[in-house]
Amino acid sequence: MFEFSLALLVNNEIIKLAKKFNWKAVKCVMLKIGMMSALSPKLICAAFNQISRGTVTENAKLLIMTTPFKLRCKNCKQYIYSEEKQKLCPSCGAYELEAQSGFEFCIELLEVES
Ligand SMILES: [Zn+2]
Repeated sequence: MFEFSLALLVNNEIIKLAKKFNWKAVKCVMLKIGMMSALSPKLICAAFNQISRGTVTENAKLLIMTTPFKLRCKNCKQYIYSEEKQKLCPSCGAYELEAQSGFEFCIELLEVES
């Protein structure tokens, strides 16, 4: 249900912007979600479809782009990009990985009709 709250938050934000800038309609919404956040893009899409009904985003296409984990090894100082969470450094084998990014959640792009 966390996805539903986030979709609601995103839609409210877009409605606010649409009022401010007099947009007639929103054609496309792109969200950026870090893989570390463990959110389901499928659930966000489903929630957004429901929430957008009757609002300025009603016919908007929702695109979700996921960003990989970025980890840094404290031992050999290498950066590691991964689709999955991992604990072991692939280059030196140390259990010293530190998360750098992968938690983002933001509106990356809006395509509007004004
Ligand atoms: Zn290492």
